[in-house]
Amino acid sequence: MEIIKKTKKLLKEKPNMLDYEKTRRAFSWKKAEKELGWFSPGHINAAYNAVDKHIKTWRKNKVALYWEGDDKRKEYSFLDLYTLSNKFANVLKKLGIKKGDRVFLFLPRVPQLYIAFLGILKTGAIAGTMFSAFGPAGIQDRLGDSEAVAVVTTKELKKRIYKVKKDLPKLKYIIVVDEETKKRGEVNYKKEMMTADENFKICKTKATDHAFMLYTSGTTGKPKGVMHIHRAIVQEHMTMKLVLDIKDKDVYWCTADPGWVTGVAYGILGSWSNGASTVVYSGRFNPEKWYSIIEKYHVTVWYTAPTAVRMLMASNGKLVKKYDLSSLRHIASVGEPLNPEPIRWSLKTFGIPFHDNWWQTEAGGIMIANYPCMDIRLGSMGKPVPGVEAAIIDEKGRKLSAGKEGILAIKPGWPSMMQTIWKNKKKYNSYFLGKWYISGDRAYKDKDGYFWFVARDDDVIKTSGERVGPFEVESALVEHPAVVEAGVIGKPDPIRGEIIKAFVKLKKGVRPSERLKKELSNFVKKHLAGHAYPREIEFVDKLPKTRSGKIVRRVLKAKELGEKIGDTSSLMEY
Ligand code: ATP
Ligand code: MG
Repeated sequence: MEIIKKTKKLLKEKPNMLDYEKTRRAFSWKKAEKELGWFSPGHINAAYNAVDKHIKTWRKNKVALYWEGDDKRKEYSFLDLYTLSNKFANVLKKLGIKKGDRVFLFLPRVPQLYIAFLGILKTGAIAGTMFSAFGPAGIQDRLGDSEAVAVVTTKELKKRIYKVKKDLPKLKYIIVVDEETKKRGEVNYKKEMMTADENFKICKTKATDHAFMLYTSGTTGKPKGVMHIHRAIVQEHMTMKLVLDIKDKDVYWCTADPGWVTGVAYGILGSWSNGASTVVYSGRFNPEKWYSIIEKYHVTVWYTAPTAVRMLMASNGKLVKKYDLSSLRHIASVGEPLNPEPIRWSLKTFGIPFHDNWWQTEAGGIMIANYPCMDIRLGSMGKPVPGVEAAIIDEKGRKLSAGKEGILAIKPGWPSMMQTIWKNKKKYNSYFLGKWYISGDRAYKDKDGYFWFVARDDDVIKTSGERVGPFEVESALVEHPAVVEAGVIGKPDPIRGEIIKAFVKLKKGVRPSERLKKELSNFVKKHLAGHAYPREIEFVDKLPKTRSGKIVRRVLKAKELGEKIGDTSSLMEY
């Protein structure tokens, strides 16, 4: 096992959490709640916590948002966000939006997205986020299922809403943020904001009142509306502090779009609740631009996804040397398994390792993580966050012992747990087995309590009587110098049940050949295991991915077998 020891040199700052085991033993959510500002007993509003509470402190004029567009940049203090979100809440109030109404955001990462999100929460309405890349069908699914009464959008994006508007009888308001003149049947954001009052009496929501919802990506069938409550911010706040190690002097960059839960929990709520100066870059991924943002804003804490790290790795190695990235002190990743190779690369390139952590839309906050104070076992997701109990169980809900692979399960009751699946109680109930919440992922726990991801339940490959997780095969493949990324599936085989097939994206300039296929197969055989190597390899230009950047193996499989792909609204490339 490869371990990265947390020496003094690696820790550029004394972490917020000095001793994981000790903190875990002393931890309780009750104590954690004390840190957050609550209204009269039991009442909390996540937007109050993220922004309003800072207005009474020295953070009032601290920069909350460094926003960078393609050719523009802007700064917003906590006071600015407070005032603007109050104004937007008043705009909604004037329209008659009330507690519990669904208001959706269909916006690129413009400042108005953040302002509107907070404003919606202040009214007690429920904010729904959507990636700006959705087409009409994806929009209709989400606005239709949630019965949204309003959607906030741009003049470019609204065209797609109009394509399906006749099928959305509940949608009353289209609020357009960048229109200069008022259009019939629409709400003009600029105009309304100009005259809206700066004071707003924030809705004193109960801790368990609905706050925001997200439709998750991935699987077949229609996307499901995962509903979160205001109390979620308790966990988002604590993990921001203990896992992402945020401190007041940090400049923090979360690269996730709020269309994905990470962009909400750690790009709005948990981050601002801690008073973090946060960078938002609204443009597309581009290695040069990304490095320049770290350099320009002196980013210290960076939270991103494996797909981005792999793409940075694949870009020209000389590029990274052009930038001064020495401000970085803590870096973390989420979304899919983080292969060991990118961790080694980051250690070499930035002098610090990426810290993998695991959670899901339904979880609402980080569940299992690597911490600044804890040695990293490469390939492991780390240990459960203080206050969270995770276990590996079998199909009957019985705990399995160390080293045994099974269902990754969590003891229900953590603060950011989803409250329901919108209008689908049956689906919600299917997440529970006995006293456990079941994640749909398979994993094992080693004897020291580290958790290791094996696969999504539906991605596990059964070959010659063995169960193989695609992740370990993919990790072995990306260690080969010719490979950028790989997606691995089980392909039905009359003799072996399934054989392992790998779809491989090669580095720029590498020529695909039969010889290379053989070499890669042998490489995995040697590095991983005799039985777990790909018997078939196909070179591809790109892999199918979700908009949050995850490889979607079910699409590779469906294509391979000539089957229907299922819901594709959350996919970027397929
Ligand atoms: P759907 O539930 O609709 O299929 P999804 O599971 O892809 O969509 P998310 O909730 O965004 O949508 O993703 C959570 C999943 O992502 C986890 O269940 C896990 O499979 C994967 N994942 C996230 N972080 C990690 C990680 N650090 N290591 C391994 N897998 C991860
Ligand atoms: Mg899932």
